Amino acid sequence: MKLADKIACITGGGRGIGRAIAFAFAREGARVAVVARTASEVARVAEEISEECGVETMHAECDVSSVESVARAFAAVAEKCGRASDILVNNAGIAESAPLVKTDDELWHRHLAVNLTGTFYCTRAALPAMIERGWGRVINIASIAGKTGAPYIAAYSASKHGVLGLTRSLALEVATKGITVNAICPGYVDTDMTTRAVENIEAKTGRPARESLDAIKNMNPQRRLVEPAEVAALALLLASDDGCGINGQAINVDGGSVLF
Ligand code: NDP
Repeated sequence: MKLADKIACITGGGRGIGRAIAFAFAREGARVAVVARTASEVARVAEEISEECGVETMHAECDVSSVESVARAFAAVAEKCGRASDILVNNAGIAESAPLVKTDDELWHRHLAVNLTGTFYCTRAALPAMIERGWGRVINIASIAGKTGAPYIAAYSASKHGVLGLTRSLALEVATKGITVNAICPGYVDTDMTTRAVENIEAKTGRPARESLDAIKNMNPQRRLVEPAEVAALALLLASDDGCGINGQAINVDGGSVLF
């Protein structure tokens, strides 16, 4: 068991990539805490994991863009588990698109607040216990949009570029403390987020959903969507002792569409 005796907190663990990571960690013995805004989803995932993996689970309602909500949720997780998390996966995220001139203040600030500031709030809340313990893992689910750009996603892309800056700086800050900080940069993954992107293209352009989905798949040289489990497999490597030498990296899981 690669994560026996570890406690892992996964933000946005109620569905999609976060759910897959929570399962992957629990299968390796971690006690997992799943947090997100939709209480029913995190409760269901926690219950399913307990049933399948037989590990203790925890769930809490949490809006990562609210510093008070993060403080409450992380305190609840620490109380239930007896101590703070060893592993933090900053996975909670949103993605909406708009041409820049139609990107209103709310859309812009929402992306920075959830994707970037949320990562900062959760990391700041989790880090002191990792430093005290001399062991920790911070894994940020960024995106290939954190390395490159694309039309209509300036807010999303800017927020994910910010996540990479945070990742790299913090990795160097805590490198001597037994803590690693890394980012995973997926291409399009088969989750609700991608389904919503396809529906949005259809609504805005009238292009049939099937065509848009094919176009998205064709952005990946492997001509497919990435599976959530593939992102989870890399997260598991980064979370385990096997990944202790990997620090400050931003690793793509995208079939080779971005080569840096
Ligand atoms: P989903 O939309 O399927 O899931 C997103 C998760 O984040 C949900 O659990 C959602 O729960 C949670 N979340 C959203 N906003 C907040 C918030 N303010 N506070 C707490 N939780 C929140 O997306 P994916 O699983 O596809 O995406 C997960 C991550 O991977 C995101 O950071 C995304 O940017 C990134 N990513 C996804 C790609 C893709 O193609 N799907 C590609 C590259 C990166 P709730 O709404 O209940 O809060």
